[in-house]
Amino acid sequence: MQPAIDLRSDTVTVPTPAMRDAMANAPVGDDVYGEDPTVNQLQADAAALLGKEAGLFVPSGTMGNLTSLLAHCQRGDEIIVGKEAHIFKYEAGGMAMYGGIQPNTLPVQPDGTLELDAIRAAIRADNPHMPITRLVCLENTQGTMSGAPLPAAYVSQVADLAHEHGIKLHIDGARLFNAAAALGVEARVLVRDADSVSLCLSKGLCAPVGSVIVGSREFIKQAHRVRKSLGGGMRQAGILAAAGLIALHEMPLRLHEDHATAHLFAQEIARLPYVDVDVTRVKTNMVYFTLSADAPMTVEQFSARLKAEYNILMRPYEPRERKFRVVTHYWITQDHIRQTVEAMRTLLTAREAQPVQ
Ligand SMILES: *Cc1c(COP(=O)(O)O)cnc(C)c1O
Repeated sequence: MQPAIDLRSDTVTVPTPAMRDAMANAPVGDDVYGEDPTVNQLQADAAALLGKEAGLFVPSGTMGNLTSLLAHCQRGDEIIVGKEAHIFKYEAGGMAMYGGIQPNTLPVQPDGTLELDAIRAAIRADNPHMPITRLVCLENTQGTMSGAPLPAAYVSQVADLAHEHGIKLHIDGARLFNAAAALGVEARVLVRDADSVSLCLSKGLCAPVGSVIVGSREFIKQAHRVRKSLGGGMRQAGILAAAGLIALHEMPLRLHEDHATAHLFAQEIARLPYVDVDVTRVKTNMVYFTLSADAPMTVEQFSARLKAEYNILMRPYEPRERKFRVVTHYWITQDHIRQTVEAMRTLLTAREAQPVQ
């Protein structure tokens, strides 16, 4: 059987042959002693690429965000973060569990932004009754909003607002390079005024494991201690960093291909019965769509039949809202998209398909 056409996430990407070669041949050392040359290179390159002083390799994006938050905040501090942000919604409450940090959540707009006025209003006064607002967090691209890319001018406005109040800006840039590709700018421009950034090497960039955080030398020094306390000090991690170097330097150059396959998918399914999709919102590698209530099957049945009959993996993202999320990536070709659309067409128009009661 062919490998599955896996559209559930860009996290399913396996390393490329070039990455496997680099991993097999990577010079390594004990990174807890700071002696792994490949990790050191990855950290220095990530920092240079994003225009920051220093970088730190961490096992996951979640640990990258948590490490950053713990490095910026004291217990009882407050952060301003989107209600739909990964940091708030999908990181198991780590900021509260390990940092005693309180999130002050704001609605995320359909374009992925937090309104400037809402941020301004959420910043606490200097008043002993109130927590101290320490940090604003943005997510670029904003995964839950169709992977919307946040433009540089907006990020700078948020940074200026935060800095005027002595507050730092952290960017969850798990898919920062997707944003850069979509906006046609260098990634460094999108984080120019940020105090810290986390980025994932293991999503669209295809590395098997790992994220990097970058910021000032002082911030990274603090983050380094936090990472150790979280159990994130790794030893011969150069094996992983070797793939990360290819992810960092080569993979961003091709992300526009994933955006093109996502756009093709959205355009094609817009023509299918029972499918509701807003093609104009597809700016990066994600497509959200819903199946209408009169569709011939439930979202669970649809997903199960795509898998059983076509070896296509597509996850109902919010089953209660009949919503799917499709994510394109390195291993998804335009041909896979055409096969997927044909399979969907067959399932949705089959004569035996009967509406569920
Ligand atoms: C995937 C993701 C993360 C965390 O990544 P893991 O490596 O899975 O821990 C953080 N933020 C965003 C926006 C993500 O999409």
